[in-house]
Amino acid sequence: MSRNWEVAEWLDERQERYVQMANEIWGFAEVALAETKSCALQAEFLEGEGFTVTRNVGDLPTAFMAEWGSGGPVIGFLGEYDALATLSQKAEPDQSPVTSGAPGHGCGHNLLGTASLAAAHALKAWLEMSGNEGTVRYYGCPAEEIGAGKVFMARAGAFDDLDACFTWHPGATNTAWAGSSLAIDHIRFRFFGKTAHAAASPELGRSALDAVELTNIGVNYLREHVMESARIHYVITNGGGQPNVVPEEAEVWYYVRAPERADLEPITERVRAIARGAEMMTETRLEEHDFHGLHNYLPNGVLTDLMVNVMNEVEPLEFTDEEQAFAARVLEGYPEATRRASVRALQLPPDAPDDALLSDVYLPEDAGKTVSGSTDVAEASWVAPTAQIRTTCFAAGTPGHSWGITACGGMSIGHKGMLHAAKIMAVSAAELVNSPDLIEQAKAEHHEVTGGKPYSAPVPDGAAPPKPQWKNAD
Ligand SMILES: [Zn+2]
Repeated sequence: MSRNWEVAEWLDERQERYVQMANEIWGFAEVALAETKSCALQAEFLEGEGFTVTRNVGDLPTAFMAEWGSGGPVIGFLGEYDALATLSQKAEPDQSPVTSGAPGHGCGHNLLGTASLAAAHALKAWLEMSGNEGTVRYYGCPAEEIGAGKVFMARAGAFDDLDACFTWHPGATNTAWAGSSLAIDHIRFRFFGKTAHAAASPELGRSALDAVELTNIGVNYLREHVMESARIHYVITNGGGQPNVVPEEAEVWYYVRAPERADLEPITERVRAIARGAEMMTETRLEEHDFHGLHNYLPNGVLTDLMVNVMNEVEPLEFTDEEQAFAARVLEGYPEATRRASVRALQLPPDAPDDALLSDVYLPEDAGKTVSGSTDVAEASWVAPTAQIRTTCFAAGTPGHSWGITACGGMSIGHKGMLHAAKIMAVSAAELVNSPDLIEQAKAEHHEVTGGKPYSAPVPDGAAPPKPQWKNAD
C-alpha cells in the first residue's frame, strides 16, 4: 500500500495556521468544563472550512462535533483542550509562571486538540482532492483531566457510527499507545450534620467532617483487601469553616481505579458502603454527587500497527541545537530523582540516546500491559476501533502534569511534535479510506475484544455532567 504523503505536505504548507491556534489555546489555558474560548475557536475555524458543527454534545457546553463529507467510512479524530490548575508557565526554560497559581497547559492539550483538528482538516482536503467517498469528524472533547468529557459524549451516542477513531497525546517519545489504562470511578461524598458551638454545646452538634474522616479511615483499612493493581485516592474538598463551629457540611472526593470495570465496580460499592457506615456512625446525612466512571482503554491492534508503520516512514522529527538546549535547561529545573523516574517510565531501549529531545521512533513497549492511569479515550475505544500515538513534544525526564510541559508546549518543540502527530493521523486515515479490508479487520478485532456487547456508559441514567471545579484566570 502506498502512503498518501500528499496529506502530510498539505499540512506542512498550513502549519503556521495550526501553530497560531495552538498558541491561542495555550494562552487561554482554560480548565476542564470551562474551555469556552478554546472550544469556540476550534468550532468556528472548522465551520469556516465547510464543516457542519454540532455544539453542546452530551449536554457539555464546551463539547462539539464537526463533520464533513458523506457516506462511509466514517473516520473520527478526538481532540482535547483543557488546561490544568496551577500550571501557568511562560514559554521559557526556567520555571516562571505567566500568572502565579493560574492554570496552564501542563499536559499539552493545546497541542492535542490542534493536531487532531488539523488531521481532520487535512483528511477533508484529501477526500476532496482524491474524490474518495467518506465522512470525517472532529470531536472537540472537554474535561479530559477530570474524565468528564468523552463518557458523556459516548452516552449521547456521539461515537456510535464511527468506523475508526484516531487520537494522540503529547509525549517525550515517538511511539504508539498499545497498552490499556485503568478503569476509574469518580465520586463525591457530601455529608450534612448539625452545627453547634464546638466548646459550649458540642453534644448538640453532628459533625459532617467526622463523617468524612471516618469514611477515609474505613477506606484506608479497605486497601489491604483490594487487588494489588487497584488505586484509591481522595481529597477533602470541604472540611468545614473554623474549629469552634461543628461542621455542618463536609465533602470528600474519591477516585477508585482498577484494571477493568468488572474489577472496579465491587470496590466502588465497598467504598460507598463505608461512606454509608460513616453516615450512620455520625448521625449525619450522606449525598453522593458527580458519579461518573470510565472504562479501561482498548487499543485496536490493526489501527495501532497502521499508525506505527506510518510513523516509521514519515519524515522524522528533527530538533535544532537551540531546541535541545532549551529542553536540557528545562530538565535542570527538576530534581535528578524525578528526571530519572520519568525517563524510566518511558521504557526506552538500552541504546536510546540521552538527548533531551528524542526524535527516534520506538516500538510500543506496553502491549498487553496496563498503565496506572486512566483516560477517557477509553470510552470511544469501547464504541469503535481506536488507536493513539505519542510524539515528542517535551523533554525526556519531564514529569507529567508539570511546568516543563507547559513551557515546551508553548514553543517550537511542542509545535513540531504536534504537526508530526497530525501528519501521522491524517496519512493513516487516508490509507484506511483506501483500504476497506483494513477497516473490516479493525472492526472484527473490536468485535472480538468487546465480545460484541453494546456500549454502556458508566454514568447513572439521566445524570448531568459535573460543573467546572476550578476557575480560569481572569
Ligand atoms: Zn493529557
